[in-house]
This record gives sequence, structure tokens and C-alpha cells, in this order.
Amino acid sequence: MQLALALAAIASCGVLAAQQPNFENVQIQVLPVQGNVYMLAGAGGNITVQVGKEGVLMVDTEYAPLAPKILSEIRKLSNGPIRYIINTHVHPDHVGGNDAFAALIPQNPLQPLKIIAHQNVLNRMTTPAGRETPQPQPGLPEDEYSTRFKDIHFNGEAVFIYHEPRAHTDGDSVILFRGSDVVSTGDIFTPGGYPFLDLERGGSVQGEIAALNHIVELTVPAHTQEGGTYVIPGHGRICDEADVVEYRDMLVIVRDRIRELIKKGMTLDQVKAAKPTRDYDTEYVSRNSFVTADRFVEAVYKSLSEHK
Ligand SMILES: [Zn+2]
Repeated sequence: MQLALALAAIASCGVLAAQQPNFENVQIQVLPVQGNVYMLAGAGGNITVQVGKEGVLMVDTEYAPLAPKILSEIRKLSNGPIRYIINTHVHPDHVGGNDAFAALIPQNPLQPLKIIAHQNVLNRMTTPAGRETPQPQPGLPEDEYSTRFKDIHFNGEAVFIYHEPRAHTDGDSVILFRGSDVVSTGDIFTPGGYPFLDLERGGSVQGEIAALNHIVELTVPAHTQEGGTYVIPGHGRICDEADVVEYRDMLVIVRDRIRELIKKGMTLDQVKAAKPTRDYDTEYVSRNSFVTADRFVEAVYKSLSEHK
């Protein structure tokens, strides 16, 4: 990928167009999800907030200029200390506010802020400037983990942080709030658009399918197949298991089609021309889509070619 394209990719990473939003006009929407958990939507990735007696836990931080607005919305939910920020992955529309939050939050040595992410996120944030998303020291996830999962108990419920290897990137975490019965997925799941498989940052189609299967395992529908566990996606509306199943099925079908075309010896251009996503494009591609049908097909093709 050329540098300009790489920067465009890293600047948006989700379903929306790559242009920088005008932060002054951004309003932060606060949506109660279930139990102790809320979803905040502004510009960039969705933020998950869990509140309770012990304070506040956030998943992702959007962009730095929005931090004061986001904090004032959080303060309407809780006056408690912000104790945890969990980063789902390295893209700047999810980690861009880390340092701004660390600066805004009064530090109490007895109740320090901990920033949690998979080790690969920290590695990528500390690579030389210009290539990745370096952060000043206070915004770095120094409570990194490199195991299959990490668990904490906070605000009366167990919170599981699962590493999903090589999915959207190589440092993705999915967070399960076991008591509230909510899963926060980061950009593994973006129901308004095709998944962005960031191959340059370790993503892959097989890992993405495995991660979606894991999210399906973690979610339990209520008896009508609606509701039950709620799912907060990286971008877009609050969902449930049925939405994740539909998305997983789409990806499996597209993967299988492209795999067949590769077996026939088709080049990338021939596979694109065969339009293996045609029947899904009306649902997953809009005028502003960052991941166009061609870009999605190309990523799946390249990812499968890597892992033959
Ligand atoms: Zn992303």
C-alpha cells in the first residue's frame, strides 16, 4: 500500500469516509445499552462506558479534540474516577483520545488510570513516528497483555478482554461485560459496511471469521432470537447476536466464493471483475464507504493468497 493510502486507511478504519470530521460540530450521543453499560457515539469509533460504585471503565477514546465533550457526557453518568481505558486496537479513531483523557483525568495514586490493550497495540504505538500512531507516554496502554485473555472485576461484574488474533488487525480485543450481558467488539464488527481487513497491520480474513465466530459464542439471544446479549460494534448501531450471525455468514460466503475463483487460477483483476460480492453490495456499500466492494475483494484475495 502506498503511504498516502496507508495514512487514509489508518485515519478512518471504519465504514465512513476518510475525511477528518469537523470536531466543533460533533455531538456526542449517549445510548443506554443494558445493565451498567452505555454506548457513546460521536466521530470515529463507538465508545463503550461501564459505570458503577467503583468508577468508570471506557472502551476506546475516539479523537483527542473530542475528549472534553466525551468527558462531560461521562460525568452525567458518573462522578466516579475513570479507572480503566481498554483499547480495542491501534487505529487512531479508537485510540486518538488516550493522551487527552489521561491529561484531563486527575491522577490519584490510590486509584490510578490503567490503559489496557493487547501487546501488539502497544508495539505499534511505540514504533517510529510517521509509520504508526505514536502517543505521548501518558496515553500508552502500559497495562498490556499478551495472553489469550485478561479478566478484571469492576463495578460488581466480571469483565473479560479477549485477544482475537489476526482479525481486523493483529491487536484486536473483544470485551465481554458478563453481568451486564454486553459485548464490545471494536472494528471486527461494523454492521454498516464490509469489514476492513488491515493486512498491513496483521489482519486476515480467517482471523476475522474466527473472531466473529467467537462473538457469536459469547452472545445468547432471548427466546424470540432478538435481544438477549447486546453487541456494541466498532462503528454503527447497537446490535444483537442475529446481526453478528448475518455478518459472519456474509463473510464466510464471500470468502468461499473468492477461494473458488483463486482455485480456478484467476488473477485479482479477474476476481474483481467477477463481482463476488454483488448481492451484498447494496447492504454494505454506500457512497461514503471507506471499504468499497473492490477494496474488500482485494483484501480477501490477498489474505487467502498469503495463507494457502
Ligand atoms: Zn479500526
